[in-house]
Amino acid sequence: MRHLKSVNKYFWKYKTRLLLGFVFIVLSNYFRILTPQISGYVVDKVEHSISQHTGNQNIQEKTRTAKYDMLVVQLINTIESANTSFGQNVILCGITLLVLAMLSGLFMFLMRQTIIVMSRHIEFDQKNEVFKHYQQLDTNFYKTHSTGDLMNRITEDVSRVRMYTGPAIMYLINLAATISFSLFFMFHENWRLTVYVLSPLPILAITIYLVNTIIHKKSEKIQALLSDLTTTAQESYSGIRVIKSFVQEKAMFGFFKKNSEDYKRNAIGLAKVEAIYFPAMALLIGLSNLLTIGIGGMYLIHHQYNVTAGTIIEFVIYINMLTFPVSAIGWTASMIQRASASQKRLNEFLQTTPEIKNSSVEQSSRLKGDIVFDNITFTYPHTGITALQNFNLTIKEGEKILLLGRTGSGKSTIAQLLLHFYNPTKGKITIGGNDIQTIALQDLREQISYVPQDVFLFSDSVESNISFGLQGSTTHETVEQAASFASVHKEILRFDKQYETLIGERGVTLSGGQKQRISIARALIKDPEIVVFDDCLSAVDAKTENEIVNNLDKFLHDKTAIIITHRIFSSFRFNKIVVLEDGMISEEGTHEKLLELNGYYAELYRLQLTESSSAPETENLID
Ligand code: ADP
Ligand code: MG
Repeated sequence: MRHLKSVNKYFWKYKTRLLLGFVFIVLSNYFRILTPQISGYVVDKVEHSISQHTGNQNIQEKTRTAKYDMLVVQLINTIESANTSFGQNVILCGITLLVLAMLSGLFMFLMRQTIIVMSRHIEFDQKNEVFKHYQQLDTNFYKTHSTGDLMNRITEDVSRVRMYTGPAIMYLINLAATISFSLFFMFHENWRLTVYVLSPLPILAITIYLVNTIIHKKSEKIQALLSDLTTTAQESYSGIRVIKSFVQEKAMFGFFKKNSEDYKRNAIGLAKVEAIYFPAMALLIGLSNLLTIGIGGMYLIHHQYNVTAGTIIEFVIYINMLTFPVSAIGWTASMIQRASASQKRLNEFLQTTPEIKNSSVEQSSRLKGDIVFDNITFTYPHTGITALQNFNLTIKEGEKILLLGRTGSGKSTIAQLLLHFYNPTKGKITIGGNDIQTIALQDLREQISYVPQDVFLFSDSVESNISFGLQGSTTHETVEQAASFASVHKEILRFDKQYETLIGERGVTLSGGQKQRISIARALIKDPEIVVFDDCLSAVDAKTENEIVNNLDKFLHDKTAIIITHRIFSSFRFNKIVVLEDGMISEEGTHEKLLELNGYYAELYRLQLTESSSAPETENLID
């Protein structure tokens, strides 16, 4: 329960609604609780009238009105003073009952309008709070949490908390109001009868609570099984090509069938438990009714404790009014339990703070000057892999650097450290003498155009993908120009809808090279000070690669550039070439110097020369 404390701030925010809701619940219950009294009065009247006709003097008209609510007493007085016939009196009582029911209904409508609407507002706020927090967390957090888990928090958990802020709160207040009103009038009327009549209700509440706990456990299990089932289905859709090419359709179906069967078995088990629920409830309520009529009837026959037929009717109606709220105790309790567990998960998540914090110094300057990697050592937090060791590199403003090395040598790590996705374990990175930890993240990232190794495009049009982050401040011409620089313009024109073509699952399937070039266009359109390309030409054929590199020559003339690759671009004059090996620099210098050195670079160069003269490269299709 204590976890739910953190939603109190929302209750405070919507306090007017909550308070109004509370008032409406009380009013709705008040008007409802008057009906048994009027019904009882009518029955007594009828009984009295019959006894007068039959001359039975045993039954005397009792002045029970004293025990009724003030409003009821007044209504009865008004009806009686109208001096109408007996029949008309009864009709007037009927109309009063109808009006009371309508008033109660009106306030019930208003109570849902305030409390349930409030819970939707809270849900909206909470979703935004969670999403905002997601955006602040750094790459490290995303590496250690699965997408499914993250999705669950913003959907499932938030909606479970809503069950608490809406229905659960509403039923609890309603329960308290109904129970206090009816108990008050019942005890007032006849405390003995009340004690007998209510004796089965605690058993009802306990039974319902126990059955609910079983139902809750079973549905949790079913939820987990369902999640397994969807994961299996989802994986087989996305991996359908692998499944088909390895002829594993049958095996996959068997796997799915097994999951599906588990799910079915558990769901049937749940249905069985649920089937007990309502009969058990009906049994216990029936018992209460039976006690009312039995014991009340005995008192009536023996003229004890002032019981009339009207009293019995009144009590039967009270009992039936109580059953719904009492049966709601069980599921309100389990709703609150679930909400509490969900809020706990949300709190845990909301309390994680990003390791990379935005610098408190608000700088808004252009990134100028040399980039210096000063003795950087970096170990990935969760795996303990040391990706860089005592890495030193100075890149003068405007220089173009080629970073070369085998997979796993630490190239991408350098790019990510420069963008401040992680803090270096040792050493520091400075730009123009400023430690990047003191530069506001927005300033830093806005001015570095980074094309990551694993390109990501949104399910949106080509144009929106290229102008991502600059929407509204670019023209179609600039988008086309960026696409031309990235050598993808001509291909886009060949699509049916050209720049409006949708990319992704429901749009066109792009080749790996096309995706890479669209992301390059997205980076170029930013017109940044610094460019970092991480292996983003790997799926592009040699001819296009040459074209892009030549375009870059024009585009990059005054910019600082770090080009990461596992291939050599001999047509481009880099100021410096750095070869990485196991997180350390193994070779460093100009093209000529490195050829002279006759190491990894020279070997790669010779290999590439023979390769390009023998085998034509093709653009491989990745999607
Ligand atoms: P490259 O880009 O040269 O292929 P990386 O910089 O990606 O090399 O990787 C360097 C080393 O760091 C590798 O051993 C790799 O396994 C490890 N590594 C890369 N990314 C992560 C990560 N997010 N978490 C843990 N280890 C990582
Ligand atoms: Mg890499």
